[in-house]
Amino acid sequence: MTLIKSINPYSGELLAEFHPLTGKEIEEKLSAGSVALSMWKETDFAKRAELMNNAARVLKDNRDKYARIISLEMGKVLKESLAEVDKCAWVCEYYAERAADFLKAEPIELPDSKKAKVIHQPLGIILAVMPWNFPFWQVFRFAAPTLMAGNVGLLKHASNVPQCSLAIEEVFTLAGFPAGTFQSLLIDSKTTTKLIEDDRIKAVTLTGSEKAGASIAAAAGKQIKKSLLELGGSDPFIVLKDANIKKAAETAVKSRMLNFGQSCIAAKRFIIEEDVYEEFLALFVEHFRNLKQGDPMDEDSDFACMARADLAEELYKQVDKSIKAGATLLYGGEKSEEGSALFQPAILADIPTTAPAYYEELFGPVATIFKVKNQEDAIALANDSEFGLGASIWSEDKEKAEHLASQIESGAVFINSMVASNPHLPFGGVKKSGFGRELSRYGILEFVNSKTVYLG
Ligand code: NDP
Repeated sequence: MTLIKSINPYSGELLAEFHPLTGKEIEEKLSAGSVALSMWKETDFAKRAELMNNAARVLKDNRDKYARIISLEMGKVLKESLAEVDKCAWVCEYYAERAADFLKAEPIELPDSKKAKVIHQPLGIILAVMPWNFPFWQVFRFAAPTLMAGNVGLLKHASNVPQCSLAIEEVFTLAGFPAGTFQSLLIDSKTTTKLIEDDRIKAVTLTGSEKAGASIAAAAGKQIKKSLLELGGSDPFIVLKDANIKKAAETAVKSRMLNFGQSCIAAKRFIIEEDVYEEFLALFVEHFRNLKQGDPMDEDSDFACMARADLAEELYKQVDKSIKAGATLLYGGEKSEEGSALFQPAILADIPTTAPAYYEELFGPVATIFKVKNQEDAIALANDSEFGLGASIWSEDKEKAEHLASQIESGAVFINSMVASNPHLPFGGVKKSGFGRELSRYGILEFVNSKTVYLG
């Protein structure tokens, strides 16, 4: 039996090991989930909101403890982990306040003066397969709306963050949620796919790679169960000649380097109109240079390491292959020691369409930069990607930017700002970035039965 290991990626130290759940233990969790569901779905919104607000309070009260677990287990710098815990408290409070309104019955007037309404009811046990990059946030943005809608949750977290998985379960327990309402399952991905066959699981959501998404969605499809996929992205960051270049360059680096580049909505392809290319590039490289690497626990560190050594190795290969295909390395990119999660940030330019850096997602601190003649070419290049998650457009002409936003194939476009998730805004992609929406009212409607009741 392969143990689930918690390893500090910065030091390589083994922090803890866990036995994956046995078949019997999984069955016990499913039974507990079913018992919890029968009671939880009957609770009113006031009760659910009280407990969800408690969860926010538990997060705030234990902010440092949870942030340390995140940083130790996946290597992001502590200041980012603290911000992540705060954001989780925000999404709990957001849905505690709004769920009742989002899910209230919707009357429909029919032309023959008859009436109908739509009521939104929970689906049941929802399985969440989650990634390591924002190990708290990705889970809370699923759990807060899903539990507020009267469902119960099962979490299969990424194998490199078992302590985060257990800590999240602890938050809901300390908040007073009935036993079984939210449970963490320490299991491998094969067992997860099999679990989808169980009748008690009604739907599944996954955030992660295309490969994992395709496998989970196929397993759900086979059982005629709903799935929601939030996959990768290769977000364009378009800077037009009438943009505020200084602000754009500063934000560009922030967007690329947040979470050490391991974010689906990080800006990855910087598409710059030729008139301002040199000016933007000079500022961009300067900001890159100013970032300080260090221990994740050190307050001064801007970045530390990738979440796992194999991820650093894979990213290095993408850079190396891209250079061999003809790309120019403008900055950084030296190889780290074998087996290390450390990575030297890099900037690539002159990228041919045959290079991995052109058509693959770079899930780490590597920026690709493109010079284009005009805005039409910028949009064409932005859309020349298998992905369609977010996009950012920079121009002082807001009307023009809004018009261009409508031409971009993505789930979101942010004008003069970096793409960021926010409980108030729907979040999700098109193309190979997935389907379905999280957050806002759209997010809570994903795992309910919107039932038509015709009043004859
Ligand atoms: P994965 O997509 O493999 O992992 C995400 C989650 O899916 C984990 O819980 C994982 O479990 C699970 N999983 C993986 N394969 C299957 C499967 N066949 N059936 C069921 N569950 C599965 O991500 P990686 O950690 O391998 O990262 C690789 C790449 O994925 C990144 O480089 C990036 O491109 C993308 N990614 C995208 C994210 C996003 O936010 N959209 C987040 C993280 C990664 P386990 O850990 O046990 O394998």
